Amino acid sequence: MLSQRLAELRNALRKAAAAAGRPMPTLVAVSKFQPAAAVAELADAGQRAFGENYVQEAQAKRAELDRPGLEWHLIGHLQSNKAALAAELFDWVQSVDRTKLVDALAAARPPGRAPLNVLLQVNIDDEAGKHGCAPEQVQALAAWVAARPTLALRGLMAIPAPHADPALRRAAFARMKALFDALAAAHPGVDTLSMGMSGDFALAVAEGATMVRIGTALFGSRPAPGSRDRAKAG
Ligand SMILES: *Cc1c(COP(=O)(O)O)cnc(C)c1O
Repeated sequence: MLSQRLAELRNALRKAAAAAGRPMPTLVAVSKFQPAAAVAELADAGQRAFGENYVQEAQAKRAELDRPGLEWHLIGHLQSNKAALAAELFDWVQSVDRTKLVDALAAARPPGRAPLNVLLQVNIDDEAGKHGCAPEQVQALAAWVAARPTLALRGLMAIPAPHADPALRRAAFARMKALFDALAAAHPGVDTLSMGMSGDFALAVAEGATMVRIGTALFGSRPAPGSRDRAKAG
């Protein structure tokens, strides 16, 4: 069932990439609020990268899972006081948006491990109350990351405003691509532009996403937050 959805989604991504004349993007399966069993099912179908929004949920899920070799991406907002745990649990953090968080992650990443892959989250539509750095801050924050040997600067992530007009979303993706190209020109390790979710991945791929983060189009709609815990307690 999930393996079927995965195959269909991969097909849709391949088509979108071919139509745009671009390489197939990396698929991050967003497993927030989904049970460990669903992750295991997708892993057995060949899916390798998984995205989680909450550090503690990811920790509990992984403790339940018997699937080594998966790649874990933190895609949700990260508080500095959870940075140390995140730096141990994850392979990628896509939501880095301030120097204080960079410092906390860099200090906590165990030096014996591969560097923690970092994407800078950009508030591309300048939305009030939305996380992410301003587009003008990208180069300075990138330099801050690049100076930390326990971190690897890999690129940018964005969640554009949910405009009903696809042309406005597409314009936001295009602005991200321009920021990404400028960043890649300055930093040879930068190779990842993470944008596009269930509702807009084709537009994002058309504008140059190299990584998409997809939840509902793969797993179906999400169980309500905390419903598992309530079910366990009750
Ligand atoms: C939940 C989430 C996604 C996946 O959203 P869907 O619409 O379910 O595909 C992608 N990125 C981030 C940052 C998310 O929080």
